[in-house]
Amino acid sequence: MNWIFQNTGLINHYNPKIHSGNQPIRVLHHMNLWMFQNTHPNFPNELAIAFDKNGLSKTIDIVFGENKVQGPFIRVQNKRIVLQESFLSYLWCVIHSIYVIYILKIEQPKINQRTGKEVYPKNEEDLEKAEELFNYAKSLIVAYSEWNKNSQPNPELYLAQKRDLIEQPNCFYTEAVKFILCHEYTHGIKHLEILNSGSEIELSGYINFEREADSDAIDLMLKGVFPNKINELPIQIGIVVGLLSMFYFKATTDAKKHPKTEDRLVDAIEQMELPDNHDVWGIALVGLRLWDEQFGLDFKWTIEKTDKEQFYDLIKQIKE
Ligand SMILES: [Zn+2]
Repeated sequence: MNWIFQNTGLINHYNPKIHSGNQPIRVLHHMNLWMFQNTHPNFPNELAIAFDKNGLSKTIDIVFGENKVQGPFIRVQNKRIVLQESFLSYLWCVIHSIYVIYILKIEQPKINQRTGKEVYPKNEEDLEKAEELFNYAKSLIVAYSEWNKNSQPNPELYLAQKRDLIEQPNCFYTEAVKFILCHEYTHGIKHLEILNSGSEIELSGYINFEREADSDAIDLMLKGVFPNKINELPIQIGIVVGLLSMFYFKATTDAKKHPKTEDRLVDAIEQMELPDNHDVWGIALVGLRLWDEQFGLDFKWTIEKTDKEQFYDLIKQIKE
């Protein structure tokens, strides 16, 4: 574990003996599983019951291969959660971009202004790389292309000097994946029986399943906040960036069997009861601005309002 104390030079996490797959996201697959299994202190027991009583599959499939992005789901027949390698790459890239843009464009200039000195010098290079990586993420929705780990930020191979811009997003990424897995887990233990029974379900029924899956997933994760709260921020941010990553597939938020994406985002944030000055509001604004720019949605932005006010104002604009 020498890399933990490494200050300079390249960090390379790849170990062909333990990491499957061809995309640099492979180095985090084990971490995803470990984080999910330990969602909260009693979750290993809940999982054991879900395996025994609900027939939840004991394994999670990762679909490897050079394919364009396909979202996660749970197989109805064998109650097995399926994640796709390209989707996981997409998710990490989106999270890295949102986080780095937030830190370098919003947070650090704010600190410089507040303290009246240049605590953080301008860092155009990493900002440009983050914006470029966001373009790469979006391109994966359309077609697969290789993630260049020598030139683009990634979790497998990076400079120790830049580790914060990689390892912080790693924390949010594993929480975002945990949110997705807890969501699918809820479908597995609560909804698939009804779907399997062959009874007719109205579309509003599906939407209620989805609401319950989001809300139970958040409850499960909040149960896992340590008494010293050290993991609370990554959990809160992870859930929000996980939901933000769903916006970039199209210019509208309508879905047949899911609630509108902006409703899922608002419901999640409100369920977590975040204070007015929480980072999540600003992070959500960065995510929504990227979506605005992607599709030329022409939202009205203002600096007169607090981040929270601006957030709700944008939600209103999305609804109009
Ligand atoms: Zn779902």
